[in-house]
Amino acid sequence: MPNIVVFIELTHTTQIPATAPGLLALAARLGTPIAVSVSQSPLNDEHIAALGAQGAAHIYATHSAQAYSTLNSYTVDALEQAISAHQPAAVLIPASVDGREIAGRLAVRTGGGVLADVIDAHAHDGAITAIHSVFGGHYTVAASVPEALPILTLRAGAIDEIAPAHNPTVEHLELGAHTAGRTAHIDAQSDAPYNTNRPELRGAATVVSGGRGLGSAQNFVLVEQLADALGGAVGASRAAVDAGYIDHTAQVGQTGVSVSPQLYVALGISGAIQHRAGMQTAKTIIAINKDEDAPIFEIADLGIVGDVFSVVPQVIELLKARA
Ligand SMILES: Cc1cc2nc3c(=O)[nH]c(=O)nc-3n(C[C@H](O)[C@H](O)[C@H](O)COP(=O)(O)OP(=O)(O)OC[C@H]3O[C@@H](n4cnc5c(N)ncnc54)[C@H](O)[C@@H]3O)c2cc1C
Repeated sequence: MPNIVVFIELTHTTQIPATAPGLLALAARLGTPIAVSVSQSPLNDEHIAALGAQGAAHIYATHSAQAYSTLNSYTVDALEQAISAHQPAAVLIPASVDGREIAGRLAVRTGGGVLADVIDAHAHDGAITAIHSVFGGHYTVAASVPEALPILTLRAGAIDEIAPAHNPTVEHLELGAHTAGRTAHIDAQSDAPYNTNRPELRGAATVVSGGRGLGSAQNFVLVEQLADALGGAVGASRAAVDAGYIDHTAQVGQTGVSVSPQLYVALGISGAIQHRAGMQTAKTIIAINKDEDAPIFEIADLGIVGDVFSVVPQVIELLKARA
């Protein structure tokens, strides 16, 4: 079985990210998952056990007190070292903002090729083929990197399998001081100003998004209430973000976050192609819109033609009654 290197994108809060199970499950399907982490202090036993439970056969746990103070330089170093040590057949990285940058820089360093925003992958005769959903989900494309290392960025939520658990072997390495690329220095990071008690939008199993149809920031609370009733994350259309109903980090779509949750609920969202590009691969889509001709209904599994201010409070009441 070939090794598959998986980047575990720990945040400054050192939590195992919601993207980790999907990445490890895909790696287990393609070969032997080697998890690579970068943290400020050595990875603790709790995190090692959690990664093993999610399918990591081996953990390449790197640390440096400066790990999060430069723009991904330490992460690219760690992955380059892990690739050199474990000679993987592919590298899997979350399709996050940082993940995309890391993939590109790693490809330059290793002479590999990036396969971006992948929703699945297969191994055949030692070759890895990546599957992409493109042009707003209208086409499914298969792509590979012949004769070079494939570096895949995986869309959060695209893989909902669980890898078999392992009791992983662990290598702890302290990364050396970084001298290159220090023109920018990160002094502090903070969590997004919303969703702090909710699942991370990227990788959440349930996402409830609101659009311009909500009408105001005050009314947008309805979206948050339904998200909380369902235990989901809050998303938004660009129109809602531009109108100031919610922080821009909640934007779902072509120029926002791409999500593939089990359940996506669209409230007062018309379903423009740029919005669909970021949510069309959701397993189940429910749309509530008062316009029966809204394009969102073309892709919805369940559509309710109605006023969100009338329908959503009733749904919340029913959910509370069942809790
Ligand atoms: C280059 C580019 C990139 C873009 N990137 C993105 C992106 O990443 N994400 C994104 O979302 N958009 C993006 N857009 C914008 C996109 O084209 C749409 O303008 C946007 O998605 C519309 O948002 P909306 O559906 O909330 O608003 P609208 O299109 O105005 O739709 C509002 C909907 O709410 C419904 N409604 C109104 N009141 C109610 C009510 N009381 N109850 C129920 N329904 C109601 C209406 O019937 C309507 O369908 C991009 C555009 C461009 C040009």
